[in-house]
Amino acid sequence: MNKQKIYLSPPHLSGSELKYIKDAFASGWVAPVGQQIDFFEAELEKVLNHNLKVVALNSGTAAIHLALVMLGVKNGDSVIIQSNTHIASANPILYLGAKPIFVDSEKNTWNIDPELLETAIVTETKKGKKPKAIVVVHLYGMPAKMDEINAIAQKYNIPVVEDAAEALGSVYHEQMCGTLGDYGILSFNGNKIITTSGGGALVTKTKENKERAIFLATQARDDAPHYQHSQIGYNYRMSNIVAGIGRGQMEVLNDRVKARRANFDFYNKQLAGLDFTFLQEPENVFSNRWLTTILTDSFEIREKIRLTLDKENIESRPLWKPMHLQPVFEDEVVYTNGVSEDLFNRGLCLPSGSNLSQLDLNRIVKAIKQSLN
Ligand SMILES: *Cc1c(COP(=O)(O)O)cnc(C)c1O
Repeated sequence: MNKQKIYLSPPHLSGSELKYIKDAFASGWVAPVGQQIDFFEAELEKVLNHNLKVVALNSGTAAIHLALVMLGVKNGDSVIIQSNTHIASANPILYLGAKPIFVDSEKNTWNIDPELLETAIVTETKKGKKPKAIVVVHLYGMPAKMDEINAIAQKYNIPVVEDAAEALGSVYHEQMCGTLGDYGILSFNGNKIITTSGGGALVTKTKENKERAIFLATQARDDAPHYQHSQIGYNYRMSNIVAGIGRGQMEVLNDRVKARRANFDFYNKQLAGLDFTFLQEPENVFSNRWLTTILTDSFEIREKIRLTLDKENIESRPLWKPMHLQPVFEDEVVYTNGVSEDLFNRGLCLPSGSNLSQLDLNRIVKAIKQSLN
């Protein structure tokens, strides 16, 4: 195979990352402490909502774990979570010895179904255990139905953790994704819309919460001249070097969203009339289009497209396999309606990098059209 590989969602640097890394070196703070972290957090607060507080961490998974710790989730508790997601949303529930209660999706956004969410809360509470938290995900950058979800969460007085790992730059009813729950989380993994090589952030409402999150993320050290600890902490803080990369990436966040949305528009236009559909934005919702996804008519058609792309050295991936179908979670409780399972069978993620060239895009579209002939 001599054609250059096209990846699903590769890193895309701005060029100014090295400048900030050099600043970090010049300051001597090659450590999980330093000015680059403060600047990066300030940039994120400016973009998200200047009334909120951001804590830079070393992964999105760590951010979810800390959010659940901050909410007091403990061994034996249960936590409701969208089944249609990446496993990183679910694993921290298990780290805490809590039980995940998986809830299926609705068809408009592919995210947690508010009606089924309420059923799950009522049923689980009747069984004797009221869920401690709800983890909602904006999968592929498409915002979940947050008004409905937050209304139900308030009705039953259960806090919401908003997994916006894939949705930095997405907007729901004039508010940035990541700012809509009691806690929000972001990821800057290599495949996300901006990257720090690996990293994440927790979004919280108060200065006190931010201070507590930093305390927990730096081994929960008490105020004493020696090392003293009265509770369990974690080593989850972001490095100053990594934060420098984040600053360079924040300069181009808007461009990255524009480029991803342009990919979606191109695919939508070029592939119109073929045997599949694209996920559309509901009213007053703006998706960063982190990944462009298609929903084909059948598993067979999806596989035909996927295998043709693979032969052309073009990476694509079936939509995420729902958590309730994962072998590791086979004994867990699930409220299903068949939606996420159907999406998994018929859906495909197309290459969506912000650095795809026009030639790349043409090559992908040509291969898809070929596969259907
Ligand atoms: C990437 C991702 C995460 C985890 O982020 P990491 O930084 O990789 O730990 C969590 N949830 C979703 C939906 C993700 O896509």
